[in-house]
Amino acid sequence: MTASLYIHVPFCAGVCDYCDFYSIPVGAGDRRMDAYIDRLLAGAECLLRDSGLRRIPTAYIGGGTPSVLGAARFKRLLKGLGGLMAALDEGPREFTVEANPESADRAFLEACREGGVNRLSLGVQSFHEASRRAVHRVGGAALLPERLKGAREIFGSAFSADIISGLPLQGESFLLRDLERLLEYEPGHVSLYSLTVEPGTPLAESSRAAARAAGALPEGAAPLPGADEADRLWLCGRGFLEKAGYEQYEVSNFARPGKRSAHTIRYWRMENWLALGPAASATIISDSAPAGGGRRYTVLPDLEAWLKGPPDAPPLIEESPDAETLMKETFLMGFRYIEGPDPALFERRFGVTIENAIPETLARWRERGLAGAGRAALNREGLLLLNPFLLDVFEELETSAPLRQTPIQADPKACGNTG
Ligand code: SF4
Repeated sequence: MTASLYIHVPFCAGVCDYCDFYSIPVGAGDRRMDAYIDRLLAGAECLLRDSGLRRIPTAYIGGGTPSVLGAARFKRLLKGLGGLMAALDEGPREFTVEANPESADRAFLEACREGGVNRLSLGVQSFHEASRRAVHRVGGAALLPERLKGAREIFGSAFSADIISGLPLQGESFLLRDLERLLEYEPGHVSLYSLTVEPGTPLAESSRAAARAAGALPEGAAPLPGADEADRLWLCGRGFLEKAGYEQYEVSNFARPGKRSAHTIRYWRMENWLALGPAASATIISDSAPAGGGRRYTVLPDLEAWLKGPPDAPPLIEESPDAETLMKETFLMGFRYIEGPDPALFERRFGVTIENAIPETLARWRERGLAGAGRAALNREGLLLLNPFLLDVFEELETSAPLRQTPIQADPKACGNTG
């Protein structure tokens, strides 16, 4: 079996107002992080043994904030994982770790490099202290130059940085200055995210309070740009990055040549991945027709239950999405990517080509100059209209029902085991 591996580290140094990830605030001495590593390594051993996994093209440790574990714990984690992966036919050619500046010190970065990590993703977000404070972003801006310098020295251009547009008090000039300062360190990859106000987050609550106050902002709240202004800001950022030689290859991601994220491309193309850790989610789909059925599991976002549970049977929610659901998801994810869903994999899985599954939508969007002529994919202007495009796709799938014309059965062998 071939599948990528995602590991979720559910700890952070604090809680940012806009965050809706599963994460627990911890201090450096919190013993739950030691227990987490013991349990994770035991779970990884079971996963590799029980799933028949032989090749891991890419691996990714995300969170949360993996770097909050600190250099010594991370060394132990990587050593354990390295020992397990050494027994595979093929280990990861791309191995990424997420880090946040407040904990990505030199010792941590060196531990990553020595432990086989060859790509770093650094949560920079903004150099503008007032914007950071307005959303209670963990860590201060003062550390950023030193941490970016360290990333550059240890990973060369094999590092990515996240920047958020549309932060409170940001405006165009601060966003462009953020990008300018970031590019001084020559990251190979930049993710430019537009701030999203997720329901249930402290940011959603403060925005509502601000709206209620009708202009008189309550203490602690800061003005967010409206939707049109947020779009305009993001487009300014995109223009800046493209001018600097970064190609947009996904809705929010930009890369220098050869520096795209192989791991996230596998998500967008719905290639199989397994997952470990609280709140981590995995998807496994059979790669040959007639198949189309698949298995998804999401480990419950509950650290205590996960620590207490047996390593070969963590508490999780399992689903068995049918072929129609998976085809929709393949389009939903695949058209985010500038090269679209993988046409050969699509045909193998669903027994129909992309061109035959949604011919009318593709023809209409090509006519409008928003999709490529030679491949089933949106171009960079089309990506800005991803949601209306997907509505057209789903409408066509409902009426043409390509799978009902190509009988497909679920293949139980498609499903791997749980980690
Ligand atoms: S550092 Fe990231 S994961 Fe942690 S609270 Fe902030 S946004 Fe959430």
